[in-house]
Amino acid sequence: MFDALALRAQFPLLIRAPELIYLDNAATTQKPLVVLDAERHFYETANANVHRGSHRLAVAATDAFEGARSSVARFINAASSNEIVFTRGATEAINLVAQSWGGANLHAGDEILLSTLEHHANIVPWQMLATRCGAIIKPVRLLSDGSLDIEHFHSLLSTKTKLVGLAHISNAIGSELPIADLIAAAHRVGAKVLIDGAQAVAHKVIDVQALDADFYVFSSHKVYGPTGIGALWARADILADMPPWQGGGEMIERVSFEVTSYAPAPARFEAGTPAIAQSVGFAAALDWLSAQDRSAIAQHEDALRLQLEQGLRQIDGLRIIGNAAQKGPVVSIAFSDAHPYDVAQFLDARNIAVRVGSHCAQPLLNSLGLKGTLRASFAAYNTSADVEALLAGLSETLELLA
Ligand code: PMP
Repeated sequence: MFDALALRAQFPLLIRAPELIYLDNAATTQKPLVVLDAERHFYETANANVHRGSHRLAVAATDAFEGARSSVARFINAASSNEIVFTRGATEAINLVAQSWGGANLHAGDEILLSTLEHHANIVPWQMLATRCGAIIKPVRLLSDGSLDIEHFHSLLSTKTKLVGLAHISNAIGSELPIADLIAAAHRVGAKVLIDGAQAVAHKVIDVQALDADFYVFSSHKVYGPTGIGALWARADILADMPPWQGGGEMIERVSFEVTSYAPAPARFEAGTPAIAQSVGFAAALDWLSAQDRSAIAQHEDALRLQLEQGLRQIDGLRIIGNAAQKGPVVSIAFSDAHPYDVAQFLDARNIAVRVGSHCAQPLLNSLGLKGTLRASFAAYNTSADVEALLAGLSETLELLA
């Protein structure tokens, strides 16, 4: 049996606030002490700039930074750490791919397929690219239960499709897409596939080689690591052909006013001083999570979701959004009468932290005819008592607001 309370005891914020019921993990997770310690240890023992030092401290910093890259590669089973580009997060990673790969490879009339449930981070960068190059965005519809309309996906795929962008798990309603099949279908028409793994990495063991995507992106802060850093994984042959997207120090081979040449990947995509201490914290988070029993955590999180969904079915005035058969540990709730913001305020007064609104997924909410939902999202340290408190808080609140 997985011991969530023992795990919770590793999180300083949760220890300081024992009354807090933190159910906003899809927005960001709390950080275990090992992550905070790793960053602090780096600053105390190895702080220097990377890649340019001729002194021992700079070598230590570079080793820590490149070691972190290896941890990220290991975590998602990349073939080489050279396939990992550090970014500020999932958002920046998608912007990098859209601007660099997209700018070089997409032309007027080319098509970009995106699912309707994408986070704005996997929509807007492609719109900006499409506006510049004349490419066309084709949204893939959802079924009424919030799952992807697979038939529509196949009907839109053609040799015009150059890029398919899909969330692995929806942040707003928790749907998990059958990405292995979708990637294979996209490859059959010659399209490249970007998977937004922001909501998946904390809950599923990711093997980018087995998935056979072309790009996989995620943020550290949603997988128990620090803010300000994330990763782009791309297959080495694709990365090798991508032009730089930002210029500056670190990303060049040689610079003169006549001609400048660029470093190989991943350095080519990391202009300027990177988030060095954060990379160490990021790696500590991934190493920490890898050392846990991942399948026990996944079962635990799924049991919490089922417990919540079962309890919600007993409460009048709300409904659960999304297809319960294919789900990450995210539960999105729509109310018949109450406003989700009011409900969240009442819950906050009971120390229950949830998220409300459109969850940066306005096309998804619009397609389901919703203005906003209240979302509870789980992490490994949540407990069955957290779910009971949320259910009790919701019942009381809805009675008060009725
Ligand atoms: N994609 C998904 C599915 C997300 O949930 C998020 C964060 N809410 C992002 C992308 C963007 O991540 P970040 O803000 O860390 O760049």
